[in-house]
Amino acid sequence: MEQTLVIIKPGAVQRALIGEIITRFERKGLRLAGMKMIQLTDEILSEHYSHLVEKPFFGRIKQSMMATPVIVCCLEGIDCVQVVRNMTGVTNSRNANPGTIRGDFGMSMQENIIHTSDSVENAKIELARFFKAEDIFEFTLSAQSFLYASDEK
Ligand code: ADP
Repeated sequence: MEQTLVIIKPGAVQRALIGEIITRFERKGLRLAGMKMIQLTDEILSEHYSHLVEKPFFGRIKQSMMATPVIVCCLEGIDCVQVVRNMTGVTNSRNANPGTIRGDFGMSMQENIIHTSDSVENAKIELARFFKAEDIFEFTLSAQSFLYASDEK
């Protein structure tokens, strides 16, 4: 099954939205396979947001992402990467659809509540960046047969 990375950003930590955000993913039927609180660093952010290092606002993003510890989660499910991306909403929270996490909890482009991997390939790279293999747990949800039909893969 597919796995993806979610980072609950400092803005959401400060606004006491951690539980609310994880609840949404749990209720959707995604399996939480790993979760921890970490402090992001300059170095890891330069790697994680390497596509943005040349942008004039990159320093501001880094400061914001290091303002408090963050929660990193590994979620699992069929087509999990796209499902989680759909639940996230577009980058600018003001344009994100109601019902999405950014659409429901944010008003900002930068302060947009969560990071979620944007492709299956990047999800693998990003999960490896934040989790050791032993920090991701394999177990079956007892509701599995009610979450999916037996022929769904
Ligand atoms: P996404 O997080 O939706 O995948 P990007 O990878 O393009 O989007 O950007 C990473 C993060 O950088 C965004 O989530 C947002 O916090 C910040 N960001 C992107 N573009 C801007 C911008 N123009 N101004 C301020 N912050 C931005």
